[in-house]
Amino acid sequence: MFQSQLFPKTQKIPPKSADSINHKLLVRAGFIDQLMTGSFTLLPLGFRVVTKINNLIREELDAIGGQEMLMPLLHPKSIWNESGRWEKAKEVMFQFKDNHGKEYALSFTHEEVVMDLIRKHIKSYKDLPLSVYHFSTKFRNEKRARSGIIRGREFMMNDLYSAHVSEEDMLNYYFKVVEAYKKIFKRLGFVIKVTEASGGVFTQNNTHEFQVLSENGEDTIFYCDKCDWGQNKEIFAGSAGDSCPKCKKGEVIKANSIEVGNTFPLGTWYADRMKVFYADERGMKKPVSFASYGIGSTRVLGALVEVSHDDKGIIWFPQVSPFDVHLIDLSGDSMDDKRANEIYSRLFDDGIDVLYDDRQLSAGEKLADADLIGIPFRLVVSLQTGDKIEVKKRNEDETQLLSYDELLKMLSG
Ligand SMILES: [Zn+2]
Repeated sequence: MFQSQLFPKTQKIPPKSADSINHKLLVRAGFIDQLMTGSFTLLPLGFRVVTKINNLIREELDAIGGQEMLMPLLHPKSIWNESGRWEKAKEVMFQFKDNHGKEYALSFTHEEVVMDLIRKHIKSYKDLPLSVYHFSTKFRNEKRARSGIIRGREFMMNDLYSAHVSEEDMLNYYFKVVEAYKKIFKRLGFVIKVTEASGGVFTQNNTHEFQVLSENGEDTIFYCDKCDWGQNKEIFAGSAGDSCPKCKKGEVIKANSIEVGNTFPLGTWYADRMKVFYADERGMKKPVSFASYGIGSTRVLGALVEVSHDDKGIIWFPQVSPFDVHLIDLSGDSMDDKRANEIYSRLFDDGIDVLYDDRQLSAGEKLADADLIGIPFRLVVSLQTGDKIEVKKRNEDETQLLSYDELLKMLSG
């Protein structure tokens, strides 16, 4: 991709409304644009990152038998009345009437819709278990949308739903999903703490939250410095410095964090209310046991910036970077820009995703933009580099001069 054609240009000054690092840097670097409070466009660079995040999630969910589909976002009041959540969730739901006075909501989750699908299409124990997921926009009527793209009124989420013949089978799969989530967040580059939270009215079981440690995070969690124990502040009765209630050896640490995923073993709460049954081996009607799971893709985008940046800009982990390398031509008007063009073509042919800064700007402006955008490898071609390429990693200060073949080896290594 030629940077001269990339939409839009970077900005030197962050927007006045930006109250967080991710908001400032993502807007300045041209990844997102704010339409109104809590509502953002994913610009081409931002869309590239979210697509990579979603593809990584997709791989891990497919590996545990998830089937992808796509459900509607506009829901009739009647389906939300079946679970009683039209009233219960009024605070966070966008609810409205059409021209004929009929009531609808914009979706913030899909338990009711999945339950309706199961009720229509699942007859027997032979049709279970089932695991389905989708990626879609979610709407939440946040009173105080803030923290940039982390707490929006409209955001992208992946949600997975599983249905089972028994509580036991549900919990068995549930912990498979917890492991898959750990893998997803590790692959995304996060250090994750899994914390227990209350199941609320839905279930006796605890739910789980996947928390990224971050100084500016809005959540407060407690975790053990030795084992995998963790709880959110709503259910932890002790305080920082206590000995770990699980292993007894570690110390309880208190930290700020950003919640990027959560999982809910819901049991038969929905089946009981929505009359979702299957026939067991003896033909007896039994309620379907259910669980739901979610990862906020655009929230992950914001959290990645919160945990990986410096005073110059974003530092993308390679697996989620919008491009593999940032090629910068500093040969000015000389005949030598032919070399940068040639390297661009070769990288393209070798399957490397390149952002090529072909603009007629000063070296200072180009290098500052490269630091702001944050692609992990910066390649400079200039009169000084001769027939080599100057390579610098975004998170390191040293540069090295490499031949094309050495570069390719490094990138594929
Ligand atoms: Zn412990």
